[in-house]
Amino acid sequence: MDPLKKIILVILAISFMVFVTFFGRLPALRKTPVAWLYRLIWIHFPGLVLSIDQALTSGRVTRSLAWIYNRLMHDRHPTIVIFFVLIMAVSEYLYLPHIWPKISLSTKSTVVVTVFMPYLFLYLACSADPGYITRQNHAYHMSLYPYDHALFHPGNECRTCRFLKPPRSKHCDVCKRCIARADHHCVFINSCVGYGNHHWFLLLLLSTCVLTAYGGALGLYLLKAKIREQYPTWSLWPPKEMEFSRYFALLGWGLHGDIRMGASTLLALLTSPLIWALFIYTLFLIYCGTTTNESMKWTDYKEDMNDGYAFRRPLAPNRPRNLRLEPLCPRWPSSPEHIILATEDAQPPSYEKNYPGQGEWEHVWDLKTVENIYDMGFWHNLGDVFAANYTFGEGAGEPPAERRQRGRSLSTKAAYPQ
Ligand SMILES: [Zn+2]
Ligand SMILES: [Zn+2]
Repeated sequence: MDPLKKIILVILAISFMVFVTFFGRLPALRKTPVAWLYRLIWIHFPGLVLSIDQALTSGRVTRSLAWIYNRLMHDRHPTIVIFFVLIMAVSEYLYLPHIWPKISLSTKSTVVVTVFMPYLFLYLACSADPGYITRQNHAYHMSLYPYDHALFHPGNECRTCRFLKPPRSKHCDVCKRCIARADHHCVFINSCVGYGNHHWFLLLLLSTCVLTAYGGALGLYLLKAKIREQYPTWSLWPPKEMEFSRYFALLGWGLHGDIRMGASTLLALLTSPLIWALFIYTLFLIYCGTTTNESMKWTDYKEDMNDGYAFRRPLAPNRPRNLRLEPLCPRWPSSPEHIILATEDAQPPSYEKNYPGQGEWEHVWDLKTVENIYDMGFWHNLGDVFAANYTFGEGAGEPPAERRQRGRSLSTKAAYPQ
């Protein structure tokens, strides 16, 4: 096999593995071959290795591997960040010297900015406080968002941090702290994505999207120019009159002279759709006014609703509340109209337990009837991601019933994957 084919195969295999690893756990793909492959690669295959090792060495090899794996996955360490930086830096080292003499001054300045941005946003996303909740700032985080009484109920304590969990927060096992408006723990930035760095994470994704798309397009453009100097009828889209074998032979000829640049271009083109998909998904969650953590919780709720385990009853706006457990949240214009609970026996929650709200419990069968109080419309949601203590302008404080008419209920946006 010639080196070009080997490089293409290796890049394809890496891109595919990364795709399965990242997307295999998404609720949206739960019932697709991607999730099936994810389970095969990350659950069934390790399980098989484990049982073979158990039989051969009483599990000694896997115990050592597990120790390394735990260090890698459950401790904070910069291995993946270094890997990410290396992939970018090595590709740029192979690519830039080659294209530099062939591009104009204005293209050079665009290239410099495009190359620099991902490093800047990576640094900012890694180094920013993602929203660690401490005893000192706990009161502040308690007042940032109201409890929605569906995903987040007042009065729950984090057993590790030993304080009440603020609405939208989550305890991260890797960071070993509670994170405000937690999205997910990201190994590429060796930190959580949360209230303090969500905007840097979004800009990191966007700048990497631009880098790979621009790098790929520029590489293809130069490659095309080079091949056409010798073979003027060649074009990126195979010309009708040209046989495929000749098309690929000329493409191979073009790449062979500049194998380093060709490999970097190919890597950029293959990884670009993946990063764009991740960026669009992150933006979509913001459009829905939710986080990765919350979207997973809603997906579980949806299953409970389908199975008849979810109930709700009205919450009066002027209900008495314990301000120690549920402080006022003057910043947020929306508050819950119902309490929603899932029970284990498909029977309504017990009246003895003194849950908030009044009246009869009724079944919730569908997310269509549920309002997401954290969704204030795309621009406000984006404002809340970008600005600490974001304040809502006029109109955002109108009664929830009117907001709902604008389409802020959960399923009008198909916010939660089927
Ligand atoms: Zn905690
Ligand atoms: Zn974390």
